[in-house]
This record gives sequence, C-alpha cells and structure tokens, in this order.
Amino acid sequence: MAEMFYDDDADLSIIQGRKVAVIGYGSQGHAHSLNLRDSGVDVRVGLAEGSKSKAKAEAEGLRVLSVADAVKEADLVVILTPDQVQRTVYANEIQPNLREGAALLFGHGFNIRFDYIRPEAGSDVIMVAPKGPGHLVRREFVDGRGVPVLVAVEQDASGQAWALAKSYAKAIGGLRAGGIKTTFTEECETDLFGEQAVLCGGASQLVMYGFETLVEAGYQPEVAYFECLHELKLIVDLMVEGGIAKQRWSVSDTAEYGDYVSGPRVIDPSVKENMQAVLADIKNGAFAKRFIDDQDAGAPEFKELRAKGAAHPIEATGRELRKLMAWVDTDRDSDYVEGSA
Ligand code: NDP
Ligand code: MG
Ligand code: MG
Repeated sequence: MAEMFYDDDADLSIIQGRKVAVIGYGSQGHAHSLNLRDSGVDVRVGLAEGSKSKAKAEAEGLRVLSVADAVKEADLVVILTPDQVQRTVYANEIQPNLREGAALLFGHGFNIRFDYIRPEAGSDVIMVAPKGPGHLVRREFVDGRGVPVLVAVEQDASGQAWALAKSYAKAIGGLRAGGIKTTFTEECETDLFGEQAVLCGGASQLVMYGFETLVEAGYQPEVAYFECLHELKLIVDLMVEGGIAKQRWSVSDTAEYGDYVSGPRVIDPSVKENMQAVLADIKNGAFAKRFIDDQDAGAPEFKELRAKGAAHPIEATGRELRKLMAWVDTDRDSDYVEGSA
C-alpha cells in the first residue's frame, strides 16, 4: 500500500515562510497561485513578455513579474509552463537568476526524469502533482475540499525537502484529499503510459474504430456516434463511482454478458503486448525524444497529427448532434475548435 500524507502530516507555516514564484498561469499555474495565496503564502507569478495570461492573473490581484524578476525574489520556484518549454525557460531565465539554495517544484516529472533540466546540487527538487486539471484543483479548494496529489522528492539538498513538499501540498488543498508518496520516475512513466495507452490514445482509437466499423457497415453516423462516443461518459462515470463492477451491475444483463464475451475479442492479448511496447518507449526515452525533437523543429508532426484527428468524420457528426443536447457542456468548444489543444 502506498504511503499517504494528510493535512495533519504537514506544517503549513513552512510554505508560509517562503517567497514563492509560480512560473506560468495556465491550467495548473492559476490554481496553484490562487490556492497558495488563499493559504496565506507570499506568491508572485512569473510570465513571459506579452503573455496572454498576465491580465487574468492581475485581475485576481496577483503580482505579475517577468520570469527573471520573479525568480530573483523567490526561494521556491514552481515550474508550471508547458512541459516542452520548461527546459528553455529554465536555461534562459530561471537558472541564471536562481537564488542560492532556492528550491524547485514541478507539477510533472517529465523534464527531470528525461534530464532536460539538471538542477544545481544545492537546490531541493520536489514535485506536487495534482491528479486532476487545474480548474478542478481550484474549484475543490474553494469548496473546502481538495484534489489528491502525488508528492515526490528528487533531490534533498536542505534535508527539509519532504517537509517543504508536504507543506506546499497542504497549501494547495491536496492533503485535504490525500497525498501519495511517489518518485519523479514513477509519476512520469505512469502518467505518460496512462494517457497514451488508456485515457487519451487508447480511448480515442477505440471510439474511432467503433464508429468506423458501424459506418462502414452501412449504419447512420448519428446513431454510431451515440453508441460509440456519447454513451462512453455514462460508462466511465459508473466506473469512477464504483469500479468496473458498478458499471457491470448497472447495465443490462445483455450488455454485461457481451462485455465478458466480446471485450477480450476486441482488446485481445496482443493489445497488452502493444501496451508493453509503448511503456518500453516511455522508459527508454524514445517517446520523450520524439516529442521534444518535433517541438524543437516547430512541431510539424504534432500539427499534422492534430489536423488529421480533427478531420475524422466523427467530429463533424458530433458537432451537429451536440446541438440537440442542451445539457452537454460545450462552453470550451472555442478553445479546441481553434486547434489550441
Ligand atoms: P498550460 O499550457 O495550461 O500553461 C501555460 C502557461 O504557461 C500560460 O500561462 C503560458 O503563458 C505560460 N507559458 C508558456 N510558455 C511560457 C514561457 N516561455 N515563459 C513563461 N511562461 C510561459 O500548462 P498546464 O497547466 O497544463 O501544465 C503545467 C505543468 O503541470 C506541466 O508540467 C504539466 O505536465 C503539469 N500538469 C498539468 C495538468 C493539467 O491538468 N493540465 C495536471 C497535472 C500536471 P501564455 O498565456 O502567455 O501562453
Ligand atoms: Mg500527463
Ligand atoms: Mg446500447
């Protein structure tokens, strides 16, 4: 069983005694900054010149500085820019301005695990990674609850890195729910595997193959959309509430029997072998290298794959059908229709 931390295991005054610079004010950055501030922590936000996020942070009353100036003031620097830009921001603006002995905190282990960032020996290097998107991290905190966090220490220069990590986790509300002790390696490898094999890659491909199979067999795309995409949410909600068992309990006996006899035909043992190959490429750094090399070249492969995905017929069908369902939240449509991920 994993080692767990809760509010009583952490001392909030440690982080309250630090000057914290949060670099980036996106999904995680805005949630961490606001939760820290509301926990009585001295926070400033570091953003690039001309940043789109600056007005949002200032509207919340936060002090916004350049990355360099925010880092110069801080004894804890929280790196919450997108993973693919972290090493450039670190090399150009963080490392040259870092106060001696200042600690570094990450929300994901990618740049440390794959050596894109190599911190000085004198810095504590810690991770507090919420297991949910930033808007949930903020909303739960405001409601007096929290989103569980993974907590890790890669480098304990001060001898106090764990106490600092737990104090930070408490300040963003994570220890109200619970913190799980992990390592940068475990967090990074499992996070990449989960999103590639199951959550994003696996689920998207399963939905598209199901839709294509029905449409190619002559069924109407609108009907195929409901069966293969829309209803997935109902199934996943049941799994989240009560595991696979609750899903099987809730569906009809016909559906449950079909689950047992056809699930292993569709997702056969070769799929597990493919998953093992995906995991191997994560562990040996091949995936990280492919992603970062492509990003460094201006992301040609990424952009091509994104355009190809957006052109799949299931998307056009879905856009029309969602208009029929007033309860489906399409508030964030504009964000992704523009292709901003
Ligand atoms: P976002 O893409 O939401 O954050 C973007 C922010 O970084 C914006 O404020 C952006 O400014 C700023 N930024 C971009 N480039 C630079 C730069 N060169 N210099 C300074 N600031 C810059 O990131 P996420 O919150 O999704 O991810 C942050 C970290 O958290 C990552 O390590 C990620 O893996 C991790 N994480 C993310 C989760 C999530 O749910 N999103 C969950 C758990 C961990 P501008 O507005 O100007 O573009
Ligand atoms: Mg991830
Ligand atoms: Mg059905």
